[in-house]
Amino acid sequence: MVLIEFGLPNRMVEWVITCVTTVSYSLVINGGLTERFQAKKGLRQGDPMSPYLFVLVMEYLNRSLKQLRYDPNFNYHPKCSRQELVHICFADDLIMCCRADKGSIQLMMKAFEHFSSVSGLQANLDKSSFYVAGVTDEFRDQILQEMRFTLGEIPFKYLGVPLSSRKLTIQQCMPLVEKIIARIRCWSSKLLSYSGSNESSRKALVAWDNMCLPKAAGGLNIINFEQWNKAAICKLLWSLSHKKDTLWVQWIHSFYIKTRNLADLVTPKQACWLVRKIFDARKWFPNTDPITHLAQFSVGGRFSIKQAYFSFIPQLPRVPWRNLVQSKGALPRHRLLLASDCKIDWLRIDGCKWGVQVSQSCVLCNTLEVETMEHLFFGCRYSRFVWHTLLHWVGLQRRIGTWAEEIGWLSKAVNNNRPRANILGFIATATVYTIWVERNARRFQAKARSNVQLIRDIILQLHSRGQNQSKWSRMLHSLNSYPV
Ligand SMILES: [Zn+2]
Repeated sequence: MVLIEFGLPNRMVEWVITCVTTVSYSLVINGGLTERFQAKKGLRQGDPMSPYLFVLVMEYLNRSLKQLRYDPNFNYHPKCSRQELVHICFADDLIMCCRADKGSIQLMMKAFEHFSSVSGLQANLDKSSFYVAGVTDEFRDQILQEMRFTLGEIPFKYLGVPLSSRKLTIQQCMPLVEKIIARIRCWSSKLLSYSGSNESSRKALVAWDNMCLPKAAGGLNIINFEQWNKAAICKLLWSLSHKKDTLWVQWIHSFYIKTRNLADLVTPKQACWLVRKIFDARKWFPNTDPITHLAQFSVGGRFSIKQAYFSFIPQLPRVPWRNLVQSKGALPRHRLLLASDCKIDWLRIDGCKWGVQVSQSCVLCNTLEVETMEHLFFGCRYSRFVWHTLLHWVGLQRRIGTWAEEIGWLSKAVNNNRPRANILGFIATATVYTIWVERNARRFQAKARSNVQLIRDIILQLHSRGQNQSKWSRMLHSLNSYPV
């Protein structure tokens, strides 16, 4: 009936009816199919046709509720009259609202019952609730009795989010926060275990801002959530001026903006926290009109959070070691060190930033050479031997130059996806990492290993990394012995 009212051709309607009424099922029991049996209830959720039919049926409800506006006895809910809003629905969740007077409730329910009779869809009264405010107890009880409603209590959950008539409390938000924390914890323990011992310390051991830089600038392109959130709020601000057909935008316009200009409107004090945050986002663009400024991040009528995000994070020159940091072969913890060390001169941080006096001479070769990055990689006798031996081991004969020269050469050498380049990328990042760890162990824990031990350690790590890199197996097969 709904389909006929929409004006679909009779033939089409017949087809649909045939599809709906001749559904039959067969079950797999003990490995064999049972005899087919007819479905008495027609279509089920999950049938390819059901979403289309559902949308059509809901459109019918939509239109019949809209008819209410022509009835002089119907009154909108006070906060919804400007939008002429009677119902909100998402999938099979439906919220209907009107003013709490008997006539309006009856008209609304009549419209819904009419919908039920033509569509065959019934509201499940056990799952439906009635919310009312600002009326006498007698009136409330009378309505409940006449309509066979059950009284619900605010806050209730809609689409997993608590709906409340006043500001949400921390307790109400906690389930959401806990869910997000659980996801982050799962992610970080999987991917960010640092030096294999993440139990003792959960603190990031790296300069986090550097990690968030794009890879070309030597970072790891990890999203900076604070900035991303900022960009997402900008999208809402942009929507306020561009998405006039969206319900929440219409609502904010009719209650707060009215006919004024969004750009120079004072943030309304009586608005809820969320709305104020969106308005406050205009402060991030002090010298320009925020709306015109944000327009540059929209493409084809859609706002790109990503583009806004990139405009917020600092743009830095490309760095020479970017290829090495991105090398497919490298382990995350090896990359992390390389991504952080090159920007903050960690050697100086040790001594000055925390006011600790440490000896300036190299602990690896036990000479009086000053421990600079150039000395450590690979001017130092100790580390030069490690690097030279490993290069020789993979069949590369070259004179070892300064740190800058080595990085320059490596950048080109690892810049492809062949196994040889990946393995070289692994060895290079692992060498830098292992030497750095050794330097710290000697300096702060008075533990020392020989450079031969370091080489063997790196080779073991390479082979264990190679276990799940099938492409590496041929090359690793020929590298199955220690060079020293
Ligand atoms: Zn040295």
